[in-house]
Amino acid sequence: MKIRRIEKVLLYDESSTEALNITEVARYLREKLNTQVEVRGNPFPAHLEKDPDFAGKLAAIKIQDARSKIAPDQEPLYAETRYEQRKLLGKTSSFGVLYEGFRLHRLFSEPIAEEERFFTFAHILFSNRLFGTWDEGDGRYHIRTSLYGLPSVISTTGLVEAPARPREYYLLKQQYEALGKDPLEVKESFKGRFIDYDDGRLTEVIKGYVMQAVFYCLTGDPFCKDKGCRLYNAHWQEELIFAQLESEYEFCQRHSRILASL
Ligand SMILES: [Zn+2]
Repeated sequence: MKIRRIEKVLLYDESSTEALNITEVARYLREKLNTQVEVRGNPFPAHLEKDPDFAGKLAAIKIQDARSKIAPDQEPLYAETRYEQRKLLGKTSSFGVLYEGFRLHRLFSEPIAEEERFFTFAHILFSNRLFGTWDEGDGRYHIRTSLYGLPSVISTTGLVEAPARPREYYLLKQQYEALGKDPLEVKESFKGRFIDYDDGRLTEVIKGYVMQAVFYCLTGDPFCKDKGCRLYNAHWQEELIFAQLESEYEFCQRHSRILASL
C-alpha cells in the first residue's frame, strides 16, 4: 500500500464545545505522527468577509424533514441566513439544525487556500453542527459523526447523536414515555454507556476520529475492521466506547506498523 506523506496537520474549530481540549488533541497528534500540527481556530469570520453570501449558502442546505430529500435550489428565509451569519462569527454556539452532509462538506472546503489544497495537508475541522447523508435504502437522512476529505469534518454533536445507544435504552425510553414517566431517568440509568453532550471523555474519543482523518490522508481509507482499533467505524455507542476508550491497544498491528513507519 502506498502511504502518502503528511507535511502538516491543521486543526480548525468552529466553537464546537468546551468539553473538547484542542491543545491536547494537537499534542497527541504530534506524538503519534512526528509532524507539525497547527491550531488555527475558526476559519469562517475571515471567509465571510471574502464571501458575504456564504451564510446564505449554508442556510440553503438545511434539512427541513429527515424523510424527504432537500431540493437543490432551496431558498432560505432571511432569519435562517441571519442565524448562519451569527453562527459563522461564533456569536452563537447553538445547534439543532441538520445540514445536508455532502453539500456542507463542499462549502467547508471553500476557506482552504489554493496552495494548501493537497492531501499532504491534513485539514481537520471540529464543529458542533449536525449533518446527515441520504440513505436510499430506507429513504431518509442519517446523522453522521464525520466526513473525511479536504477538509475532514468531525461533529461533536454527531458523536452523541449518530452512533446508536444500547437497544435496551430505546425500549425502556419507549416504556417510560408510554407510562408518562420522565425519560430523563432512563438517560441517567444508562449513564456512561453512551457519549453525552459535554462528556468528560470527549477529547479522548475525538483523538480516534482525528486519526481516522489522518489515515484518510495517508492511505485513502479512514477505517479498520478491527473492533479494538481506533479506526473502527462504530455504528453503536458501545462499539465507539470500546474502540476509543476500553480496548487494550490503540491501533491494530497493521495500523501501528504504518504509524511506526512515519
Ligand atoms: Zn486498525
